[in-house]
Amino acid sequence: MTNDTYRHKGLRRQLASLLKEKGIENASVLTAIETVPRHLFLNSSFIERAYEDIAFPIGSGQTISRPHTVAFQTELLELKKGEKVLEIGTGSGYQTSVLLEMGAKVYTIERQKALFDLTKTFLPTIGYNPKFFYGDGYKGLPVFAPFDKIIITAGAPIIPDALLDQLKIGGIMVIPLGDAVQVMTLIKKVANKKFEKVEYGEFRFVPLLENKEWGD
Ligand code: SAH
Repeated sequence: MTNDTYRHKGLRRQLASLLKEKGIENASVLTAIETVPRHLFLNSSFIERAYEDIAFPIGSGQTISRPHTVAFQTELLELKKGEKVLEIGTGSGYQTSVLLEMGAKVYTIERQKALFDLTKTFLPTIGYNPKFFYGDGYKGLPVFAPFDKIIITAGAPIIPDALLDQLKIGGIMVIPLGDAVQVMTLIKKVANKKFEKVEYGEFRFVPLLENKEWGD
């Protein structure tokens, strides 16, 4: 891979052990963090700090979540190889790459055209090939449903009904719920229209926006 050095690999190993200290237990999540070259997802002026546990701007007013948030959300998904995952909020594609690295089949939706175009072009150049969709995550992807898992990577004021419908029975959705601050929420579909909810800690995300005018 271009521009990925032993130094970067060393920094990733350190990041993975930091996340382990912070409570991430799932070995395949930690391996994925150790594998995905996060520095390549950042604007070059931030590259030196790519393996610290901090969030960064990625353009179009959006952010790449901090590694701990990515790992925490991914761990809650209880992902198994080959599962079909719907991701809302492609952004830089870093979370997408972590899911792919764990063997998921990823369908990812982004509502900002500039970010969508950038990430759709960039990810395949480093070997990650999800199915990209430009559209409104509130609607999900009914044509490709049902999904084993659904992950929302923006702060959602409500749980979109369409997404609950598109979850398999037995499937898990992980969604940060709230306006200014979000509570990480795990929703398990136990039967048709029957759900169990578990709440985790507070996180901060950019908002999941309703589809008014695209491309802003
Ligand atoms: N997972 C990303 C983090 C992205 S930040 C990463 O690893 O980089 C959240 C993203 O959600 C932003 O790119 C934002 O444009 C997108 N978003 C917000 N509302 C959306 C919606 N309704 N549908 C799809 N994407 C949305």
